[in-house]
Amino acid sequence: MRPHGGQVNRTCGEETQAGVTASARGNARGVSWAWQLGAACRGLPSSIFYPADDERGNRRRRRELRAKRICAECPVITDCLRHAINWPETQGIWGATTARERASRISNGNSRR
Ligand code: SF4
Repeated sequence: MRPHGGQVNRTCGEETQAGVTASARGNARGVSWAWQLGAACRGLPSSIFYPADDERGNRRRRRELRAKRICAECPVITDCLRHAINWPETQGIWGATTARERASRISNGNSRR
């Protein structure tokens, strides 16, 4: 598992199968992570989904586009986006959305994909 945004579950990164399996059973908040087992981003570097501290402009847009293309082929995109809005995940690309796009959906009352 890889820490980010104050929590430790993410499908991409170098987590072990055991780590994902353990998190798939749920956590202290009663959230199931089983959907992550089918994620297209498993094993991919989290740097695709999260910005570097100094990332701006076109570099940031290119990385986000790359991540969104991976998400577009992901079989659990709906579960991922639902999780990211409900948790909420405040950083990174989840379910083919940026944190800013998710915040906008939440503020508009349009949290369903
Ligand atoms: S939708 Fe994107 S971020 Fe979510 S699990 Fe799939 S590939 Fe990973």
